[in-house]
Amino acid sequence: MDRIVVQAPSGAYNIHFGRDIWQQVQQMARGYDQALVVSDKNVAALYGHRLPFPISPLEPGEGTKSFETIAALVDDWAERGLDRYSLVIALGGGVVGDLVGLTASVYRRGIAYVQIPTTLVAQVDGGVGGKTGINTPRGKNLVGTFYQPWGVFIDPSVLSTLPDREITNGLGEVLKYGVVNDPALFEVVRGHVDAFYELDLEVVAPVIRRCVEIKGEIVAADERDRGLRRILNHGHTFGHAIEKAAGYRHSHGEAVLMGMLLEGRLAHLLGLLSSADLAAIEDALFRVKLDYSFAHLDKGEMISALIHDKKNRKGSISFILPREIGRAEEVLLSVEDVEKYWDEVIRG
Ligand code: ADP
Ligand code: ZN
Repeated sequence: MDRIVVQAPSGAYNIHFGRDIWQQVQQMARGYDQALVVSDKNVAALYGHRLPFPISPLEPGEGTKSFETIAALVDDWAERGLDRYSLVIALGGGVVGDLVGLTASVYRRGIAYVQIPTTLVAQVDGGVGGKTGINTPRGKNLVGTFYQPWGVFIDPSVLSTLPDREITNGLGEVLKYGVVNDPALFEVVRGHVDAFYELDLEVVAPVIRRCVEIKGEIVAADERDRGLRRILNHGHTFGHAIEKAAGYRHSHGEAVLMGMLLEGRLAHLLGLLSSADLAAIEDALFRVKLDYSFAHLDKGEMISALIHDKKNRKGSISFILPREIGRAEEVLLSVEDVEKYWDEVIRG
């Protein structure tokens, strides 16, 4: 049985890997009076039958991460009589995971839940770490909690039904782990980007496992995002600004890839990253199926988004910049610094 233990300060839990996770979830559910699967309609149709439990299907898409859906879930769970002897199973991508995690953390002051992440992003990032959230008209993930799951169950073979765009999304987070933490992982992914689109599990499964291992170590050291965990925000300062300035036309993963390109260039311009390492990062990013064009992004809107970034500290903009492949650190810059390098960062 292949598993990783995450030693989160709020409690330890296991992350299981492989095709037999479906049996393992059922085994775990035997310890509870009842179990309920919450999924989205797409995932429910594809994989719901693998678990012998009732399913609450949600509408797919970011719009489902709302207060309204929490209210609907709470009603549904109360009608079904879910209590502290019940288990909720979140089966799906980041939308389902964030929403179910948040609802599980507040329903009856917290009930047991597990994650079965089914997108590449959720398998390498969202499903592990216990961050939950919903969006409001004033911001993405504006409301959320830290609430670790009772277990995470990852079957990489479910990625075979994902569209290419979802693979691209996940590659952003995968390459990010390489750049900030693990040069060997970076080289493997850089050399095998195609294997992700073709879903060659001999390459993809160990990469997912390694990303989860890194995430688990980081979460164990810094559950609440105060120190070390912040390095996972590489690509996210420009990334969030891109998401905002483009009116959320880009998915999160696409924006992170674009953000990594800009932040890599910025690191180089600041003298923090060698030309060779920047070239390697650019090479890896350009192998991903994504159009890295910034012409549609308004500089003023981007700067305004950077100024309002929630990671900012002491009036400075916080970036996680690579020093070399496998090592990154936080750099605080003024708006003037960012504007000074703007044209070169965008043009490359
Ligand atoms: P993310 O994990 O990228 O944040 P979502 O939860 O929004 O994203 O999932 C992205 C889309 O992919 C949704 O439409 C969802 O229904 C679909 N999806 C999730 N997992 C799978 C899968 N294994 N196969 C096919 N489609 C999937
Ligand atoms: Zn992210």
